Amino acid sequence: MIGEIIRGMATTLKHLFHDPVTIDYPNVKRPVRRRFKGRHVLKRYDNGLEKCIGCALCAAACPADAIFVEASENKDDERFSPGERYASTYEINMLRCIFCGFCEDACPTEAIVLENKYELSFYDRASALYTKEMLIVDVPVNGRITPQEVDAGSFDRAIPDMEDAD
Ligand code: SF4
Ligand code: SF4
Repeated sequence: MIGEIIRGMATTLKHLFHDPVTIDYPNVKRPVRRRFKGRHVLKRYDNGLEKCIGCALCAAACPADAIFVEASENKDDERFSPGERYASTYEINMLRCIFCGFCEDACPTEAIVLENKYELSFYDRASALYTKEMLIVDVPVNGRITPQEVDAGSFDRAIPDMEDAD
């Protein structure tokens, strides 16, 4: 009996001198792993145009039917993305999402990316619907907000050359 108490106290004492494994969340946030898949973002090009072209391949690839995309036509005096169409509605239902990343893999323009945000709490179903306005990243420093007025015919190609196409 005494021996067990001593062993227990020794274990406690040993851990007193170890660094704590807990962190002071939310004041301190632990960096995520390189392959972590967190909350999605919709990307922009450096000029501010949206990468999403409203093709809905992400929605087709989603095994949880979590994505809803509605596309509209771009015009040169009101352009959101290169090419013919842009996503006028883009929604992800986070109650359905299983963070598999299939949407990211299916996207031909690398518009939808699962990044490192993991704080996803909500208190009702409506708040679990992440809209385009919530998902899209800020306009880059030298970019312009969308819609943009551009010269006719200057953005007629929806899918750019990809650096990592192989
Ligand atoms: S991560 Fe998977 S489940 Fe979530 S929206 Fe993308 S494809 Fe659907
Ligand atoms: S995120 Fe990508 S796959 Fe989904 S609609 Fe936009 S361009 Fe198409």
